[in-house]
Amino acid sequence: MFKTIDGKKLAQIMRGEIRNKVEAFKHETGKEIGLAVVLVGENPASQIYVRNKIKACEEVGIKSYAYYLPQETSQNQIEELVLGLAADEAIHGILVQLPLPAHIDSEKVLKIIPREKDVDGFSAENIGNLCLNSQCLVACTPYGIMKMLESENISPKGKHAVVVGRSNIVGKPIAMLLLNADATVTVCHSKTADLKAQCLQADILVAAVGKPRFITADMVKPGAVVIDVGMNRGDDGKLCGDVDFDNVKDKCSYITPVPGGVGPMTITMLMYNTCLAAERSIH
Ligand code: NDP
Repeated sequence: MFKTIDGKKLAQIMRGEIRNKVEAFKHETGKEIGLAVVLVGENPASQIYVRNKIKACEEVGIKSYAYYLPQETSQNQIEELVLGLAADEAIHGILVQLPLPAHIDSEKVLKIIPREKDVDGFSAENIGNLCLNSQCLVACTPYGIMKMLESENISPKGKHAVVVGRSNIVGKPIAMLLLNADATVTVCHSKTADLKAQCLQADILVAAVGKPRFITADMVKPGAVVIDVGMNRGDDGKLCGDVDFDNVKDKCSYITPVPGGVGPMTITMLMYNTCLAAERSIH
């Protein structure tokens, strides 16, 4: 009998805890926790993400500073803004919504964000420290997955974890977190030979591929924990994951649904990281 890991419920519980921490910070310092969100251009998906992040800030009591810049903003103008935010004591976290317009060198912009304000955890320094298992800010989606495992007392220690996907924002950092938590980790990608054989070894299988229902029941070991990161539109226009949930679920011990699984945890972890950044700025 499988159990679904309810990301929506866990996110709600965590947001309550974050709200308390935000209050405690205000009480201790007399100041608010501030998150700057920078959006360049009018990408509709980015606009929705930014709106949701600002809404989440309101929910937990973090003060958001939104910067909406036109599509034609120059490299210099963005860099100047980010440099200003980096020096601003009221701002504890800086989030530059990606993707930036094609004429902007995103890497250069991200490099300006000081690592202690890089609440997305995308900077080379934070990723490097994650590899070293040193203090860092961890990318929100992988961090959320670890919190989901923890919430069900699923320890990665000694387990074989297979991660399908090697992106810098999901696949690589979740592989590193699982390794740091003493799992034996295999990372698969589009050039992996015999993906099915790799997946069948997984006690913990993380799918971060971006292809609807890509992980099928014949790829899943009985009793596996299956984490579905995918957010895709199926042929019916509905949101679906990378895992063929209906056919896979009965083989699992635990599985995350889409929607209502990893997704709601991502923005919650952004709030968590912002809070952590603020706390570290005073201690
Ligand atoms: P990317 O497109 O950056 O990476 C996809 C990865 O999947 C790549 O490493 C690619 O391999 C691999 N891949 C593609 N096809 C295959 C294949 N046939 N066999 C094995 N591996 C394959 O995606 P992201 O990591 O950014 O996102 C993955 C999914 O997670 C998407 O659906 C995205 O929408 C979702 N997502 C959800 C979030 C959430 O909050 N829930 C947050 C971020 C992402 P290669 O490197 O060789 O190309």
